[in-house]
Amino acid sequence: MPDQLKVGILGATGTVGQRFVQMLEHHPLFRLSAVAASGRSEDMPYAQACTWRLADEMPDSVKPLVIRAPRPPLDCDLVFSSLPAETAREAEESFARAGYPVISNSSAWRMEDDVPLLIPEVNHAHLRVLETQRVKRGFPAGGMLVTNPNCCAVMVALALAPLHARFGIAAAMVTTMQALSGAGYPGVASLDATDNVLPYIENEEEKIESETQKLLGRLDGTRVAPACFPLSAQCHRVNVSDGHMAAIRVKLARPGRLEEMRAAMASFTSLPQELRLPTAPERPIIVRDEPDRPQPRLDRQAGNGMSVTIGRILPDRVLDYRFVALSHNTIRGAAGAAILNAELLFAKGYFDSRTKRAT
Ligand code: NAP
Repeated sequence: MPDQLKVGILGATGTVGQRFVQMLEHHPLFRLSAVAASGRSEDMPYAQACTWRLADEMPDSVKPLVIRAPRPPLDCDLVFSSLPAETAREAEESFARAGYPVISNSSAWRMEDDVPLLIPEVNHAHLRVLETQRVKRGFPAGGMLVTNPNCCAVMVALALAPLHARFGIAAAMVTTMQALSGAGYPGVASLDATDNVLPYIENEEEKIESETQKLLGRLDGTRVAPACFPLSAQCHRVNVSDGHMAAIRVKLARPGRLEEMRAAMASFTSLPQELRLPTAPERPIIVRDEPDRPQPRLDRQAGNGMSVTIGRILPDRVLDYRFVALSHNTIRGAAGAAILNAELLFAKGYFDSRTKRAT
């Protein structure tokens, strides 16, 4: 399509990078034109550098693209980034400084005050912090940094958002069971993963707690005041390929009946659904009433991997209610989240005149 924006992927050969490639194959707004990865892959055609690990075939269109270093210039109008955090910080800033919008999936910039940490259904108003970013960082026209949350924080924040809006959250406790693909490739050693549960994922508990509070925070002028309810997270790596699960307990600030809570989640829709953004699921939250759902194998593809499935909504004897959430960690938790962010920015005109090679 002639009016598509050309997009690049930093970290294109990785677990999340491959998901980006797959999700962008038939995208109506974005056309993949550039790929970047480490020195190990540089100067090779994508087909040669990348060991494709997704079930569908590698798209033909990406095969001849030559892998570049993750630094500008790249032949694209905006970049998606799925670089490891330690590489992402400098690389992503260099693109923003060169006038590219950077839609990042890595954690490097998420908690900066002037960088939106965005879930379009939850906090699209937070995009206003881009005004501060422009002034503070002096990025040229088009240059910006926008991030999506950690793969569990996105699920927790989506699940809590309708409850926070309707009843207020007074406290929440989250216990995760996270898939192996969340650790990238090769990820967890097979001898650690088999017949085992690992009760430690570096920095994950801190990310879920701080990011969820930023996501559910209130815009105060052009800064976000984080939500201040106590939130405690415990994380575990389990022997599942894709799909993160979380057992969540909540204490509500205002009384609510179980049916009201269920209805608030099941009926939740927001701006991406109104705008009919291409990657937006019809229902961001799917509530299931069977006693043994959600399950990773059965529910991770709900809404093409973009819906969070909630089940087991019950009264809780310690806090008020408990439920179980599940979402696809490399789709809603990574590539799909970033693509939805870019679709919202596109729809709201952020790419019109400010994008380096705007159409
Ligand atoms: P991964 O499978 O290890 O892939 C890493 C990618 O980054 C590869 O393309 C790799 O290129 C490239 N890379 C590594 N070191 C580099 C360097 N020094 N310079 C340039 N490129 C380099 O990791 P992943 O799981 O896709 O995760 C990528 C990012 O997304 C991380 O920040 C992670 O925290 C975040 N994330 C992951 C998930 C998930 O479910 N996996 C979910 C949410 C967020 P080569 O192939 O050339 O080595």
